[in-house]
Amino acid sequence: MRRRELFAWIGRIAKGLVLGMLGLGGARLFRASLVSAEAAPPGQHPLRPPGALDEPKFRAACTRCFLCAEVCPVRCIEFPSRVEGAQPPLHRARGALPRRQIVAPVWQGGDTPYILPWKTGCIVCMKCGPACPTGAIRPIAENRDAIKREVRMGLAEIDRKICLPWTRTSWCGACLTVCPYRDLAITVDHRARPTVHAEHCIGCGLCVEVCPIRHKAIAVKPPFSPDRGEVRAE
Ligand code: SF4
Ligand code: SF4
Ligand code: SF4
Repeated sequence: MRRRELFAWIGRIAKGLVLGMLGLGGARLFRASLVSAEAAPPGQHPLRPPGALDEPKFRAACTRCFLCAEVCPVRCIEFPSRVEGAQPPLHRARGALPRRQIVAPVWQGGDTPYILPWKTGCIVCMKCGPACPTGAIRPIAENRDAIKREVRMGLAEIDRKICLPWTRTSWCGACLTVCPYRDLAITVDHRARPTVHAEHCIGCGLCVEVCPIRHKAIAVKPPFSPDRGEVRAE
């Protein structure tokens, strides 16, 4: 066999392997690698799907089968191998760090399922739990009271330094409107300034998704710390 024919033959085998992979969830793997290249807006965190076990148990139980993502009607579950945090705005970095250093958190996703709420929040339909074959995501009844009692994906926090009503820039109300526990998890005062109430917030991230500020004036902090904050010199 001549050399050129040998290379053509190897190329055909490689193409067949790639197409086979795409049929076995490779498309999602490819998508995951794209996610890893994106940076989160400042102060944002990736979240686990609702009902996920505690972080170490979750990582041990999840087999990366993609079934949770397949049933999610809004496609909010992604499998990033890595999510890079954006540089924090100056008012967050100032004072806490030496002048020429900034914190850029990096989440090592390990190709496990995450919700990136600045892209798409969770509508708490509760379809991912029953779809999970390993129990990494616990099934929770699709019931308003059960969800409020059992789901804690994180806790929303408002950055009053950039929130539109808090800075008196304009009225907004996007987070209040979209919140599934509106008037409980988020309330607004007479100037439409929003406040989050920890006892009612389930951490779904819908408020983050709809926040019109480019760098997001609201973030959901998860109850785990998968990030390895790196301090880098500018
Ligand atoms: S509860 Fe529904 S919207 Fe939320 S992650 Fe699971 S499947 Fe997706
Ligand atoms: S369905 Fe369960 S095991 Fe499969 S990827 Fe999702 S969390 Fe992991
Ligand atoms: S405040 Fe935000 S994260 Fe909390 S329940 Fe409402 S929309 Fe979800």
